Parts: sequence; structure tokens; C-alpha cells
Amino acid sequence: MLAISEQFKKQANLIAGEWVGADSGETIEVNNPATGEIIGTVPNSGKAETRRAIEAAQEAFQNFRKTSALERSQMLRRLHDAIMDNQESLAQLLSLEQGKSLVEARGEVGMSAAYVLWYAEEARRTYGDVVPSPWRDRRILVTKEPVGVIAAITPWNFPSSMLARKIGPAIATGCTAVVKPATQTPYSGLAWGLLAEQAGVPPGVVNILTGSASQIGGEITRNPLVRKVTFTGSTEVGKLLLKQCANTVKKVSMELGGNAPFLVFNDADLDRAVEGAIAAKYRNSGQTCVCTNRFLVQSKIYNKFVDRLAEAASALKVGNGLEEGTQQGPLIDMNAVESVESMIEDAVKKGGKIVAGGKRHSLGGSFFEPTVIANAKLRMRFTKEEIFGPISPVYKFRSEEEAIELANNTNFGLACYFYTQDLGRAYRVMEGLKYGLVGVNEGVITTAEAPFGGFKESGVGKEGGHQGIEDYLDTKYVCIGGLGL
Ligand code: ADP
Repeated sequence: MLAISEQFKKQANLIAGEWVGADSGETIEVNNPATGEIIGTVPNSGKAETRRAIEAAQEAFQNFRKTSALERSQMLRRLHDAIMDNQESLAQLLSLEQGKSLVEARGEVGMSAAYVLWYAEEARRTYGDVVPSPWRDRRILVTKEPVGVIAAITPWNFPSSMLARKIGPAIATGCTAVVKPATQTPYSGLAWGLLAEQAGVPPGVVNILTGSASQIGGEITRNPLVRKVTFTGSTEVGKLLLKQCANTVKKVSMELGGNAPFLVFNDADLDRAVEGAIAAKYRNSGQTCVCTNRFLVQSKIYNKFVDRLAEAASALKVGNGLEEGTQQGPLIDMNAVESVESMIEDAVKKGGKIVAGGKRHSLGGSFFEPTVIANAKLRMRFTKEEIFGPISPVYKFRSEEEAIELANNTNFGLACYFYTQDLGRAYRVMEGLKYGLVGVNEGVITTAEAPFGGFKESGVGKEGGHQGIEDYLDTKYVCIGGLGL
């Protein structure tokens, strides 16, 4: 087993440039999901610490907003370099607390660096407008300015890159941040504090707190100094935060749950579809909001696809993420295992046929077998509910119209995928799908250059792309009169 670098395992919170414990001195234990071992603790902070962090961010904002776009761009370039110089240590830490394979962890850390580099570039392009005036003696300027203090709340499935998408644009625009990483995976979040220090980000610009979600979230949403809340997590908590933010009318960005369909048409390249299916489903043990939730397969190739998917899923190497060769790590905890089990039980009761996996893995703990369920029916729970685990239900459809209707029949609208070699069909289906992200003959499509964000109950706002910076900016209209023209 690898000797994990302790360098980034910071067991303290960062407030106003100081690494501190909780006021109460209380801590929370952090587990390695692959072994159940306690790997350390983090402070159990609450309301008072959060208020101080917000006030520190507000104070830091007074100077930070005056820095030039070029200075902030250079700061982000240094942050990018600090991440890449430490990619291996950060990946090991991520795998240790989250469970994902080292290959995926390295990829996630690389993705974090890519977002930071993207925002280093975008920092210099937040252009305003000079608008032709309807008045002879007045001129119209439209400028962009940082919104102020932003607060970010992030989940455990991508504890590094979800913060890159929020800290990156905050620094790029001159905002300051209060960050709450998920309690299960706090170290990859706290590492951003160390990296920001290395990159010369001024004290108070990035503040990071661990502890009670409801107390920290409560103060963040109540405090009028916070001008924007950016959240990635469940739709349930997202709705709660939206309600809480209403009282102080904050800007919000919400990256919430998904129910991704993966459509395979009779004319698809089957090899490519199976390869894409494995990546789109079993990545991070099925624990991503863009993971396939429903495979919809056209009748003529249904049996072939099911056989091939079952074969490929069964061949995945399950193990401790830190061991070389592991393709699927453990689930995050035993609650996740029970949730997956109950969905399988429901499906089997309603006629689903397990053709791969189906039960806890012989490794024990929260390891689970990559599972494929044929004969999936609409009345099964995963038709409506997000699985967040390594189960592939495979439904059958006959026509293109039916496929689009089935795919859209959900309150979610984050990612979807489809496989066809017919160009006309590709356009028809692409235009018919009510989703924020569409993969055509591709199963993994996230990249810093493109806008990530859902339709319907999957969220509000975009992260990445040139769109990703807009939510961190206020647009100001200035009318200059009395010019004597
Ligand atoms: P998941 O199901 O992925 O754990 P959650 O929405 O429960 O998603 O968690 C995502 C993030 O939201 C985590 O950092 C979690 O601690 C935080 N969170 C959970 N409940 C609340 C709450 N009531 N207020 C603010 N943050 C919360």
C-alpha cells in the first residue's frame, strides 16, 4: 500500500488566514471508506465560526476587489501550478478519503487544475459594453463588477473539482469566498487553503469551514454579507437552500441531482456504446450526478447490448482505490450500500432480471458488485429516483419518438447520452432531449471549456465555459450626462 503524504491532510479550518479549530474544540472523525479506518479529524465548526469567516471574507473583499484582472489571472496560474506540482499527493489524499481509484483521483485533480487555468484566462475577458446612446449629450457604459462574498457548499463525490469550479471564478472576478466541503471528504477541500496560500492568494480571500451542515448552511444563507450561494449536491438540500436564500435575495447557482438516460439505437456502433456505457455508469462507482441512471435500448439490439454490458461490468476490477489496477472503489458508506440494495430488491420484485452482480462484494465493507438489471420497467424505483451506485437498469424501446419521450419523462435534466450513426437522427434526438448536457456517441463529456449545468430540477446556472464566470459578476449600467455635447 502507498505511504500517503500527510502534507495536505490539514486538520483545521482556515478563517482570515489563520488555521484554527472549532470554538468548542469539538472534532469530527474522517474515515477511509475502503477500510473503515479513521484517518484523522476535522473541526466541528458552527454558526459563530461561519459568521467570522463571512466577516473576514467581507473585509478581504475591500482590497481584493481592487486587484487588477491581470494580477488575479497570474494568481490563478500559480494556483494551477501548485495543484499540478502536487497532483500525486492530492490524488492519494482524495482516494484515501473518498474511495475512488487513483486513476480517477489523478484525473479529478487534473480537472481541478484545468478549471483554475480556464478561469485564469477568463479573468481577463469579463468585458462590459459601451452602448450607442439615444441622447446626444449622454453616454452609456455597462460594466461588470464582483458580487462580493460568495459561499460554496460542495459534495463528497468530487471533493476537489467541485471546488475548482467555484473558487476559480471567485478569484477570477475579485470575489472572496467562504467554503464548506462535505464532512465525508473534508481534506480535499481544506487542501485548497494550503494551495491558495502557496499561490499567494491574500488571507481572508478563501475561508474554509468543516462541521455542522445545517449551522454553517444556516448562517451562510441568513447572512446579508453573502451575496451569492453556489451549491453542488442533492436536489432536496438545493431546494432547502433556495428557500433559505430567498429572505436575503441572494444570487444562487445550483448543481443538483440527475437521472441521466443513455439511449442506444439499432444503428449504434455497439463496441463504442458499451465502452461509453461503462464509463458513463461505473465511474466513481456510479456516484456522480451525470452517471447513467437508465439505459434505454432499441429492441433489435437489446439482447446483444445487455450481454455485452453484463460482460464488461463483470470484468471491472473492484478494490481499494489506492491499489494499482482498481477500476471501481467502495461506495461512500453503508447507507449507500443499503440504498442500492433496496433498489435492486424493488426491481427484482417487479420482474427485473439480474444479469451481472446484484449483491455486496466479497471484499466486504461498502464494496458492491457492478450490477446490470435487464427487463427494467417503468414502475421500478430507478425510473424516477437517482441511483447513485453501480446499477445499470436496461429498458427496451421501439421507436425514436418513444425513446425521446421516455428519456424526458423525469423532473431532472442534467446529462444524457445517445448512440447512433445516423446524422439526421443525431440532430432530431439532440434537439428533442431536455437536458443541459448531451453526449452524442460519447459517455464522458465534462470539460472546463464547456458550460456544465442542468435544466428543470437539476439546477440553476452554469459552471465552466465562458458562461461560468457570469454568476460571480454584477452588471452595472452607468449613464453619464451633462457632457455639453
Ligand atoms: P449528497 O447526497 O451528495 O451527500 P447533500 O446535498 O446531502 O448531497 O450534500 C451536499 C453538501 O451539502 C454537503 O457539503 C452537505 O454537508 C451539505 N448540506 C447538507 N445538508 C445541508 C443543509 N441543511 N444546509 C447546508 N448544507 C447542507
